[in-house]
Amino acid sequence: KKRLLLELKGKENVTLDGKKINLYANIGGVADVANALSNDAGGIGLFRSEFLYLESEDYPTEEAQFAAYKTVAENMAGKKVIIRTLDIGADKQVDYFHMEKEENPAMGYRAIRICLDRPEIFKTQLRAIYRASYYGTISIMFPMIISVKEVKRIKEIVAEVKAELTAEGIPFKDCELGIMIETPAAVMISDLLAEEVDFFSIGTNDLTQYTLAIDRQNPKLDSFYDSHHEAILRMLQMVVDNGHKHGCWVGICGELGADTTLTSTFLKMGFDELSVSPAMILRVREEIRNTKVEE
Ligand code: PEP
Ligand code: MG
Repeated sequence: KKRLLLELKGKENVTLDGKKINLYANIGGVADVANALSNDAGGIGLFRSEFLYLESEDYPTEEAQFAAYKTVAENMAGKKVIIRTLDIGADKQVDYFHMEKEENPAMGYRAIRICLDRPEIFKTQLRAIYRASYYGTISIMFPMIISVKEVKRIKEIVAEVKAELTAEGIPFKDCELGIMIETPAAVMISDLLAEEVDFFSIGTNDLTQYTLAIDRQNPKLDSFYDSHHEAILRMLQMVVDNGHKHGCWVGICGELGADTTLTSTFLKMGFDELSVSPAMILRVREEIRNTKVEE
């Protein structure tokens, strides 16, 4: 089996009837890039940047972040690298943020909410990302979005950061901007959100948690945590359709993207990209190459 998968290296992610899809890797840091490349990742579909914060004793500086993002961009040699901005809170706590204890952390002060509440932290990260953009092909993705208002505010902050860099004479490229679709609210207004951004990436881990009202951290509920629930499948289709209608490409970066029992379903739904852990890339490629979309 292993040898057979290795034979898929260098092959296209194309169905029997010629439909292509991008197959990218999820990574947590610079150290995972080699693994992504050796497994033939076409890009990085989710760089969980919070690991830089989790591994640090204090707020990571702009320089430290710049160095990490630049290294990833350079090592990917022009292939797309989608950096997700800070997604802490809930299951990912960082001491130096001194966050108050919450009754419902999964529904609490986390991810983009922290970034919009503390723009100095957000801006430091965005500056580092834009500076690194010069050295490869970087896209930026924002987690836990629930409203158009948030996206508009993010875009204002992004514009401020770019203006600052320009004024300082620091080179950068224009980055594609996207959001994670991981709340039911984002699904339901995906037509409106699509007008504001370039792409959607569906975070099925959180989307399943919030849609089914099931704590993804509670093992007691494992048998109820059904990511194949019809509600989830309908949401996926809705997001693809709304995204495409309004000019966004649409992918999946949650665990479900690597579920090979659904690969042909995803292709039929019209997804443009799947981002999976490096170890799953060739396995998903095999599934894609055995699928016929029009049957
Ligand atoms: C998700 O929620 O599906 C996702 C990809 O993000 P994380 O697992 O990091 O919350
Ligand atoms: Mg998530």
